Amino acid sequence: MSTIDQEVAGYYDKVLKRNAGEPEFHQAVAEVLESLKIVLQKDPHYADYGLIERLCEPERQIIFRVPWIDDDNNVRVNRGFRVQFNSALGPYKGGLRFHPSVNLGIIKFLGFEQIFKNSLTGLPIGGGKGGSDFDPKGRSEAEIMRFCQSFMTELWRYIGEYRDVPAGDIGVGGREVGYMFGQYRRLVNQHESGVLTGKGLTWGGSLVRKEATGYGTVYFTDEMMRANGDSLDGAKVIVSGSGNVATYAMQKAQELGATVVGFSDSSGWVETPNGVDIELLRDVKENRRGRVSEYVEETTGATFHKDGSIWDLSADVALPCATQNELNGDHAKALVDNGVKYVAEGANMPSTHEAIELFRAKKICFGPGKAANAGGVATSALEMQQNASRDSWSFDYTDNRLRGIMSNIFNIAANTAEEYDRAGDYIIGANIAGFKKVADAMLAQGVI
Ligand code: NDP
Repeated sequence: MSTIDQEVAGYYDKVLKRNAGEPEFHQAVAEVLESLKIVLQKDPHYADYGLIERLCEPERQIIFRVPWIDDDNNVRVNRGFRVQFNSALGPYKGGLRFHPSVNLGIIKFLGFEQIFKNSLTGLPIGGGKGGSDFDPKGRSEAEIMRFCQSFMTELWRYIGEYRDVPAGDIGVGGREVGYMFGQYRRLVNQHESGVLTGKGLTWGGSLVRKEATGYGTVYFTDEMMRANGDSLDGAKVIVSGSGNVATYAMQKAQELGATVVGFSDSSGWVETPNGVDIELLRDVKENRRGRVSEYVEETTGATFHKDGSIWDLSADVALPCATQNELNGDHAKALVDNGVKYVAEGANMPSTHEAIELFRAKKICFGPGKAANAGGVATSALEMQQNASRDSWSFDYTDNRLRGIMSNIFNIAANTAEEYDRAGDYIIGANIAGFKKVADAMLAQGVI
């Protein structure tokens, strides 16, 4: 083992010991540390002042009880989390996830990724993440509202427009942000619009925020394809999931001339050889909060599958947009065997380590989540800018800003990879570029 390998193994060992039972967090840290080896080789000062150890330790972790009463008058108790990971570049910024799988390790992996992603956007935002193990599925509107109010009754004291600005993620969309904003406003007795992003358009929200993560993922993919002499026009694309990110990734991919050949949710997947009817999908998922099988019942030429995997479809481009570790080594092999050339992560860490290694070995162009899905948080930062200046921008202006930011992110990742003799490795490029900006700020700000 080289000295650098040993040094980095030492950092990783400490993370394993101090954060037992948090495999997703370990996975996210391992991937970044692997990329940092060549940085530390070239610029050893990035390890000075305990920088790597500090980077892997959240500045603050908040865990709280969220009691609420269901429609049958039973008291329910969930657990709430907010991990304020790193504020060297700006206030903590990152979404809230409501899903039964949520635990501290998952929130820490998401918060850790968020540091580098937010850095890559070029905007002044630090990294954080939060959520709860609350399952919104099957809950009435009134139950969702009561839960959101109880969640915010505890969270409010830790957030603020200059401190920590949460947004949505899995299970948290415009409706939930609305209920949480209402409760925050009531508790602090101020209409502090900059405290949450993803708000409604008439009370401080930004046009394009809802579409931003999906659109941004496709803008990134478009840049990656062009840089490699290809285009989305005429391409076949698989998009997993059918939530916020997936829906708008599908819409933009089709607008740019691609055919979306499949999408999914946790109940199964749908094959759509002739493309996706976005309006029907939005009606099923956004308005009716239904399952993807309902889409198939109301259209022709689409088939629903409970078994098998969406990754068995044949396509040029794969955009995993559902959840972490949804694309494993076997899935990656099936995609490669079926001719996939480009993969970009709309979700956070959807590809396992084995899948990534296979894509690397087969020279598949791969856009990691912290670069490819940064459009959501970037547009949240644009929402914060509009709130601060009491302004609201047009759709086209905001969409152009998003497009420009995604293009910059791609170029930074590509150029940094080249600078470190790893041309075409956008994982290395994104990790190093995201890291260096945060690390420089941390070094300049002293040991805190
Ligand atoms: P949504 O809740 O809107 O949608 C999530 C989608 O993923 C749903 O179709 C859901 O299906 C599916 N899904 C969730 N868990 C699983 C699972 N275990 N197995 C299979 N399918 C699953 O969330 P978002 O679209 O907002 O988020 C999707 C991903 O994108 C997440 O990784 C998130 O962290 C990431 N992301 C989101 C951003 C945003 O702006 N919203 C920004 C950047 C990243 P079902 O309805 O059946 O549960």
